[in-house]
Amino acid sequence: MIYLDNAATTPMKPEVLTAMMPYMTEYFGNPSSAYQLAQVSREAVEKARHRAAALIGAEDDEIYFTSGGSESDNWALKAVAESLRDRGNHIITTRIEHHAILNTCRYLEGQGAEVTYLEVDAWGRVSLEALERAIRPDTILISVMAANNEIGTLQPIREIGRLAHSRGIPFHTDAVQAYGHIPINVKNDNIDLLSASGHKLNGPKGVGMLYIRRDVKLGSMIHGGSQERGLRAGTYNVPGIVGFGAAAALAGKTMQARAAREMEIRNYMIRRIQREIPFVLLNGDPGRRLPNNISFCFRFLQGEALLILLDEEGICVSGGSACSTGSPDPSHVLLAIGRSPQEAYSALRITLSEDITGQQADFVVRELKAAVSQLRRKSPEYGAFRRRKGIYR
Ligand SMILES: *Cc1c(COP(=O)(O)O)cnc(C)c1O
Repeated sequence: MIYLDNAATTPMKPEVLTAMMPYMTEYFGNPSSAYQLAQVSREAVEKARHRAAALIGAEDDEIYFTSGGSESDNWALKAVAESLRDRGNHIITTRIEHHAILNTCRYLEGQGAEVTYLEVDAWGRVSLEALERAIRPDTILISVMAANNEIGTLQPIREIGRLAHSRGIPFHTDAVQAYGHIPINVKNDNIDLLSASGHKLNGPKGVGMLYIRRDVKLGSMIHGGSQERGLRAGTYNVPGIVGFGAAAALAGKTMQARAAREMEIRNYMIRRIQREIPFVLLNGDPGRRLPNNISFCFRFLQGEALLILLDEEGICVSGGSACSTGSPDPSHVLLAIGRSPQEAYSALRITLSEDITGQQADFVVRELKAAVSQLRRKSPEYGAFRRRKGIYR
């Protein structure tokens, strides 16, 4: 099997599992208890917090562990809307956010909030001028993702944060795809709130974090005990948190070499696909994109059909976004960058890990070429297009 769907989830690294194991067996104590057994768990949670913070230049007490990226996004948006209600009710985000942001915004609209969804350019980048124009006296939050999960485009978060701060508006970034993959420093990048998730950086599923800058005061969303300084109740997911910390530490150590390796293979595969497969459209910013993201529209076919043919060869990829599988709607991200619905349905996303070999990359390109030809031979649209263009070969 060749697993190339690392934007959907990543396999756990053996080191991460090794770090977690003792906390699922002998060190099972509840960190909130008073005896020595509990102390071991408590110290492990605090070590993980330190590692999670260090990866983005945060202070330990600015990290709050959650159940994952979705909870962190929900918490950030709902709690800011609530705590700044007397200042205003206007939120600025983008059209290409993950559904954890978009559907939370829809919910808040139902509660009376007004949301501006910024357009993006053909490469998926938001414009600072458009952002500046969208700011109003009653704007209480700007939430822009650091890196897009479908097309890999990186946003100018440092500049967005600087603009937000110059207007006294808190800045949240959904960094689930970026955390541990590209360098982020919450201080230099002017970030007040940041969401991350364990399973997108070779850690366990069901654990994430929200970074909350010290001077940002948020309310709680999960009420109960006094865990996480009273802001996120519930007995600690000790093994999950330890795994998150181990994954963050490992990601920090390996980031540079990993990104370099991924970029090398990414650029090689993009170049070959562009040269050897006709009628393809690269999605996302050609330069400023996640090191491991390859996204193309293969016109005149269905991305889902391509996915199934590749699956038969043991290659795991995604048709645009795993989150939209089963949904009949074309990807909102691809529509936002100007793809037609038909083009959007032809999308395929390949997200690499550093483990891919050159040989595997060649195998994937070969299978992709064969599958694209096979599907297009049967495509009535492709036949009609060729007749229109006078291509009879
Ligand atoms: C995966 C993902 C999420 C959701 O994270 P979970 O931990 O799966 O809830 C949110 N935002 C982005 C950009 C993602 O890629």
